[in-house]
Amino acid sequence: MQGSVRNLPTAKYSRYRTGRDLAHAAAVSGARAVRYSVSMSLRSIVHLALHFVVPICLALLFFKETWRRAALIMIATMLIDLDHLLANPIYDPNRCSIGFHPLHTWPAAAVYVALLLPKPTRLVGIGLLIHLALDALDCGWMRLLSA
Ligand SMILES: [Zn+2]
Repeated sequence: MQGSVRNLPTAKYSRYRTGRDLAHAAAVSGARAVRYSVSMSLRSIVHLALHFVVPICLALLFFKETWRRAALIMIATMLIDLDHLLANPIYDPNRCSIGFHPLHTWPAAAVYVALLLPKPTRLVGIGLLIHLALDALDCGWMRLLSA
């Protein structure tokens, strides 16, 4: 048992003995790194787009008469991302904002839920909770890619 475990790495790397094999191995891991960074930037673009697409779709669905105003208010809740200014670096595509930035924490979420109760602040509350949900989705996607 012990002997076979010790022999494992040798067996694994014996495939890459020649220079050509090593070059091939480097190319394969290079391509993997490129695929990884492409999928990471795709993730950032999709995430940013969703911050506009989701509020607009919800506004069109549930606020037919006043959808422009409703969409604008919900999109404006992206202002909570100003809390990124407190972090260093300000933007890091590989950092999960939930639980890290002060306006992206559970106590903040509790305040956003409370904003749902009075009618005048309801749209702001909905926008803020959608924002947190989209950020959480992004964190999940990030974890999937780096797993
Ligand atoms: Zn955010």
